Amino acid sequence: MSIKQQLHHIKNTIPEHVTLVAVSKTKPLAALQEAYDAGQRIFGENKIQEMTEKWEVLPKDIQWHMIGNLQRNKVKYMAEYVSLIHGVDSLKLLQEINKQAKKHSRIINCLLQVKIAKEDTKAGMSVEEAKVILDSGDFTNLNNIKIVGLMGMATFTENKEQIATEFQSLKHIFNNLKQLNTDNCSLTTVSMGMSGDYELAIESGSTMIRVGSSIFGSRNYKN
Ligand SMILES: *Cc1c(COP(=O)(O)O)cnc(C)c1O
Repeated sequence: MSIKQQLHHIKNTIPEHVTLVAVSKTKPLAALQEAYDAGQRIFGENKIQEMTEKWEVLPKDIQWHMIGNLQRNKVKYMAEYVSLIHGVDSLKLLQEINKQAKKHSRIINCLLQVKIAKEDTKAGMSVEEAKVILDSGDFTNLNNIKIVGLMGMATFTENKEQIATEFQSLKHIFNNLKQLNTDNCSLTTVSMGMSGDYELAIESGSTMIRVGSSIFGSRNYKN
């Protein structure tokens, strides 16, 4: 199937309240343009430099989501345009995003990445760490960021029950933290689910899925 057909297939099978992020990392401009021409406006990338190069040449109504692990010293390169940052896992990073957003008179939306996988390799913070950040005075003072939800990644396994349990744990944490409603924190988004597990994620309460290979085909290297 073509990129356009894959996109339409996914859009036709997910509920309306679920946002589709087309994960275009490592893919050439032509592939993104094809998805754009098929109506897709939200793209996810995991490298700031690659995302910025694509942002510079592709249509300006694209919303760019940063879904990868972040290096603080590179936040400045995307502060002008990034629409949502998924993988925020520390107060220091939030402070840097806030500082760079301020330079552009913007408020940058962020998701806190919570570790739900049993594997050691998946990044993210614990619920306790998230609570400490959200309750801190340092956080309250950050006027140029807004926490709009949580992001999580399930363990890479064939075990569907385990994946579902991990997704449900993120939804549970979300429901808990949602009570906290402040100027710069109002949780509406649960970003979970990729090509292999987005149906399970949606069943478990996902509101935003990040799908790459099911739209653009497999990537040459694990990225
Ligand atoms: C690459 C990536 C995806 C998309 O993965 P696919 O299996 O190709 O759908 C989703 N989320 C994150 C954080 C990624 O790095």
